[in-house]
Amino acid sequence: MADLLQVRHLSIEYAAARGVVRAVDDVTFSIGKGEIFGLAGESGCGKSTTAFGVSRLLRHPARIAGGSVQLDGTELTTLSNEEFDRLRWSKISIVLQSAMNNLNPVLKICDQLTDAILAHEPHAGKEVRQRAEQLMRLVDLPVDRLDSYPHELSGGMRQRVVIAMALALQPSLVIMDEPTTALDVVVQNGIIRKIMELQKKFGFSILFITHDLPLMLEMCDRIGIMYAGKLVEVTSREQILQKPRHPYTQGLLNSFPSLSGPKQRLSGIPGHTPDLIRPPAGCRFCPRCSQALALCETQQPMLMQDEKGQIACHLYSEEGLSREQASAACE
Ligand code: SF4
Ligand code: MG
Repeated sequence: MADLLQVRHLSIEYAAARGVVRAVDDVTFSIGKGEIFGLAGESGCGKSTTAFGVSRLLRHPARIAGGSVQLDGTELTTLSNEEFDRLRWSKISIVLQSAMNNLNPVLKICDQLTDAILAHEPHAGKEVRQRAEQLMRLVDLPVDRLDSYPHELSGGMRQRVVIAMALALQPSLVIMDEPTTALDVVVQNGIIRKIMELQKKFGFSILFITHDLPLMLEMCDRIGIMYAGKLVEVTSREQILQKPRHPYTQGLLNSFPSLSGPKQRLSGIPGHTPDLIRPPAGCRFCPRCSQALALCETQQPMLMQDEKGQIACHLYSEEGLSREQASAACE
C-alpha cells in the first residue's frame, strides 16, 4: 500500500510553569492510501496532540519542536498558513469530539457547508446549494435541516453535519479525534457505521483517535499505541487481537472487556504515567512494567521495524535479547 501520510520523528513541546513538556517525542508512523489507522493510549499520552500537529491545529504555547509531516509528498510543517488553508478540507480535514468545536453557532448549516465549498471553489455558484443537499443525504440527514442552526440539531445530527463538511471536498485524509465520544451508544454506533460506509465508498484514509480500544479494534487496519508521548508499538489489528507484544499494549487490552473471547477478570495497569517534564531515563513504562529487564531502567528502547510492525521494547531489542540469553546461560 502506497503511503499517503508520513510522520517522521515528530516532536511537540509546550512550556509549562515547571519546565518544558515534550508531549510528543520522536514519533514516526505512516498511513497508507485508503487505510484506517488508529492511535490509542491513555488520556494525556499525546495522541490528540499528534493529530493536532499533523493538521496544524496546535495552539500556542504548543509547537512542533522537530520532525516532519508529509501528505502525499508535501511537507506540511513548513507551509505558510495560506498554503495550508488551501489543503484544509480539500486534502486533509478533521472531525473533533464535540461538533460545537467544529461548527459556527451563529451560522445555518447550509452556510457552513457552502462556505467550506466556496472557499475552495469560488465559482461553484448556484450548484453549491445542491452540493450541500447531496452532502446532507450522504450522512442521512433531512435536507430541510440545512436551514437550521447547530443548536437546533441533536448532538448526533451535528456530528453528522461535521462529517459531511469534512467530506465536502473529498479529502484524501480525514482525522477523527474521538468523533463519537460525546454521544450515547446507539447514536455512536449509527455514526461509526456511517463513517465506515463512506470510507468504503470514497476510499479516503482515516487517522482515528479514541481511548475506546474495542471500537478501535473494530474499525482500524493498523494501530499505533502511544505511551507518555512515545509510540511504543505499531501493528495490524489482527496482531493486536491475537498476540499483543508490547507489555503496555497487553496491559491496555487487559483493561477492556474481551470482545469475543471468554470472560476474564479485568486488570487495569497499576501505577501512573510519568512526569513528562522529567521522564524516566530508560523506558518510560518501566515503573509500571511487570516484565522489565535491568537495562530498561537506564536505556530507552528505540522503535524498531520487524516483520510484525514496529515496536519499542527491550524484550524485542537485540540488546535486550542478548542480555536475556546471557543471564539464562548463567543460571
Ligand atoms: Fe517493559 Fe522494558 Fe519493554 Fe519497557 S522496554 S516495556 S520496561 S520490558
Ligand atoms: Mg484527546
